[in-house]
Amino acid sequence: MFSKRVCHVRSLDIGGDNPVRVQTMYDSSLIGADMDALIKRIGKLSAMGCDLIRFSYSSLDDAPYFSQVAKRSVMPVVADIHFDYRLALSALESGADKIRINPGNIGAKWKTREVVLAAKDMGRAIRIGLNSGSLPRDDRHLTKADLMVNTALDYINDFESWGFENTVVSLKASDVGVTMEAARKFSSLSDYPIHLGVTEAGSAIVSSVRSSWALGCLLSEHIGDTIRVSITGDIEDEVIAANEILRTQNLKKGGVRLVSCPRCGRHTFDSRRMVEILQPKLMALKDDISVAIMGCQVNGPGEAKDADYALTGIGKKAFLYEKGVLVREITLDDAESALFEAIENGRK
Ligand code: SF4
Repeated sequence: MFSKRVCHVRSLDIGGDNPVRVQTMYDSSLIGADMDALIKRIGKLSAMGCDLIRFSYSSLDDAPYFSQVAKRSVMPVVADIHFDYRLALSALESGADKIRINPGNIGAKWKTREVVLAAKDMGRAIRIGLNSGSLPRDDRHLTKADLMVNTALDYINDFESWGFENTVVSLKASDVGVTMEAARKFSSLSDYPIHLGVTEAGSAIVSSVRSSWALGCLLSEHIGDTIRVSITGDIEDEVIAANEILRTQNLKKGGVRLVSCPRCGRHTFDSRRMVEILQPKLMALKDDISVAIMGCQVNGPGEAKDADYALTGIGKKAFLYEKGVLVREITLDDAESALFEAIENGRK
């Protein structure tokens, strides 16, 4: 079952009866980043259904940039810390709503304790982030999954002994089977919220397949309170993929369902390009509608007759359909604006 405990991250609650949250991770260093552009991008990711964004916090030079993001971001921000507990303390001082640490690579226990006590004082959250590749001890009698679960439970005990419970746990492996086994075992032994993800998942296609399988199975067993689909590519694609997994499982309602035909030799309309252009914009809408982008006018409208809106075309002409009925013939250049105008009119 979904976790019973709730972790508070700024105004976002993770776990319990709350919706499964979507996360992504910024793909560049913050140092020297164009802050205005970044804050705008975070706003767009939020509109697309992202709840939480993580940043690498790899040196003390990150501090001034991170504190700007923490102040201006519309969604909670997470600092990803490795090895040096002073970076974790600095990230908390800089306004991190949550930090992700692996106590096993922080070193002596007193260092983790300092970090945990600082997070407790400031009312912040911590993710205990374990990867199968960086476990602190090598017990050859245990499977990797068991080793991850036992290690996570040991860390939770430490945290609780220091009076801290605002914790999320992740147990990730690039092997999908190990990830699933670890999540299942952990959720049978603990009621802390779990963050799910398949680490080093690969390109958009490979990652989407692997993550859909692993996360989809676990979510259908009511395991998982936040998810990230790691993609070697645009972080916007991570958010789209994560939301699609949730929608497919009926764990997320509303929003635009974009359908498009696979295309065949009959296609007369560059539906692939149109999907690339429209997908991020449609994902930012809250309307509970379906939009179809079809490759030809011969079969497309018929195949898309159940869609609320459909676009197709021939050459430089485009055709807009509403519930299978042709409502406008426009130029290709006007197709996007005509679609959004129709969606806008549909709200009235
Ligand atoms: S809508 Fe047209 S282009 Fe697309 S798959 Fe069907 S027949 Fe082919």
